[in-house]
Amino acid sequence: MASEVDFPRHLLELEALTREQIELLLDLAARFKHERAKARKGSAPPERRELLRGRTIITLFFEHSTRTRSSFEVAARSLGADVLSFQKDASSVAKGESLEDTVRNLDAIGADALVVRHPAAGAPRLVARAVRASVINAGDGAHEHPTQGLLDALSLRERWGTLENKTVAIVGDIAHSRVARSNIHCLSKLGARVRVGGPRTLIPEGIEKLGCTVARDLREALTGADAVMALRIQNERIADARLPGARDYSRTWGLDARSLEMLPRDALVMHPGPVNRGVEMSSDVLESPRSLVMDQVDSGVAVRMAALCLCLRAEVKR
Ligand code: ASP
Repeated sequence: MASEVDFPRHLLELEALTREQIELLLDLAARFKHERAKARKGSAPPERRELLRGRTIITLFFEHSTRTRSSFEVAARSLGADVLSFQKDASSVAKGESLEDTVRNLDAIGADALVVRHPAAGAPRLVARAVRASVINAGDGAHEHPTQGLLDALSLRERWGTLENKTVAIVGDIAHSRVARSNIHCLSKLGARVRVGGPRTLIPEGIEKLGCTVARDLREALTGADAVMALRIQNERIADARLPGARDYSRTWGLDARSLEMLPRDALVMHPGPVNRGVEMSSDVLESPRSLVMDQVDSGVAVRMAALCLCLRAEVKR
């Protein structure tokens, strides 16, 4: 796929990408997603294992993960790459080796790409400065989770054709969520209006500067929205006691059949996972036909394939 649009060698944050770069990645991801769907139905998609054959991709996760790590690894393997999964507790990090020394060594071993998740905001940028390999941010503290923003945009774009003039509400713990930040940047660059809402202590001051509006309550957040994305309270990043309890939270900000009546009938419901059923979202909402949650996971593999191809300069000819 020849393109006039340059894509960076590292994917660190969506704030730094242009709309054209985001669209380039989404177009490629949409092709991969379509091919995966066809393959599931038994027809043979184009062979993609040549694209990254002989390349080595190392996933380094310093925080827990289910979807992101496995989908990066599935994506890399489906492109023919060799994949190594770095285990923090079984590595020399447990003996006191620093992050920079660790990644320099992985670089010397021959990594072509490092996929990094870390609790500290900015860690993937630090890694990118220390190595020769491409670096993809798989979530850094409360800063960004670029491939999550991209996969959410892909699922929405496939449903709507365009995000132009659509309204997406993001409700929950905005203050500690990297998913919120990546989505605000991505969705607004693609022409959508973004509205955020959540308990007062979980809405950071000045968030509007990123390009969103703030709703005071769930009704204001949901009224007229084309989609709502529920976010988990990031307990692992919250040290103080200003948190609402789970029951309190689900009563005021949780999505259930009753609160969904505030949404237009055809509006979509999303969640990046992991879902705490009955807190951010009830089981019936999660499993309802308007839920995009499993489609988001499916988009995740395709988006990560596209991110690896673009960062590693693999040329997708057909
Ligand atoms: N899985 C997402 C993340 O890593 C969302 C979450 O954990 O709530 O940020």
